[in-house]
Amino acid sequence: MKVRPAAELLKDFATVKDIFLEMPPYQRYTLEESTRSRVAHIENFRGTFDCYCVSCKKESTFVDVLSVPGNPPLPPPGRRDVRNHSTLLVGTSASPPPLEDKSFTCRFVCTRNKRHTIEFHFRVQQGCLLKIGQFPSMMDLKTYGYRKYQSILGDRYRELTKAAGLFAHGLGIGSFVYLRRIFERLITEAHQRAAQADGWDDSQWKDSLRIEEKIRLLRSHLPAFLAENRSIYAVLSKGIHELSEEECLRYFPVIRESIEAILDEQLAERASIVRRKDLARELDQITADANTKNVPKKDL
Ligand SMILES: [Zn+2]
Repeated sequence: MKVRPAAELLKDFATVKDIFLEMPPYQRYTLEESTRSRVAHIENFRGTFDCYCVSCKKESTFVDVLSVPGNPPLPPPGRRDVRNHSTLLVGTSASPPPLEDKSFTCRFVCTRNKRHTIEFHFRVQQGCLLKIGQFPSMMDLKTYGYRKYQSILGDRYRELTKAAGLFAHGLGIGSFVYLRRIFERLITEAHQRAAQADGWDDSQWKDSLRIEEKIRLLRSHLPAFLAENRSIYAVLSKGIHELSEEECLRYFPVIRESIEAILDEQLAERASIVRRKDLARELDQITADANTKNVPKKDL
């Protein structure tokens, strides 16, 4: 597999959460002398990040195991200088130590229950950093997190987990295929909704239309993020037909998050509709009660 410079690692994985949760396994990242200290930042990370807990079955906050009372003592101060996960990869002024081949594990526990753990395994080898494993798997973490999309995608929400699973195994192009299927389904369903709506002229619709044109026609029936970011589909198509495995792996997190943003927008819209209906019903009830009280009684 292509060896990538550490500069790209910095660019793609700007936070420790990304390093732990999004970095694809077995992809080698070269570490130059100026960026060797990044390894120590990851290895000695102390802090928290939010992640789906497969035991709690909901989102939780995880903290590094050495920061939990009752666990082994913290390493010397010089080895735990990274606490702010948002600035994980900011370099230090100290000279980085010689880079030796080694393996290390970063363990985290759920703040709700110390028995719920996540661990990530890394290896430094011949001047490169690579992630060699994690438990629970990337696919398991995503599977639980994606269940909330079942109300929108039906059982096809599992295609999101399949995309994540392929990505976790270093298969970039395959992961793009599943994401594109989900994207196309969103367009198809938007067309079905539009066809039921007042003012829609279905004579303008043809299955042979380019997807950008379909999005333009459906813009008032699509989540705003999708309508405003038609380039998502172009990247997905290019990934399947032209991009390399490495390029697809590199772009995958952004494209997947874009699709999640679209789905989240749909979930929020549905929740808003339900809330408005509930409020309208309650207001009707209040109005009815108030009117009843205002009816003058005959004996008064
Ligand atoms: Zn938990």
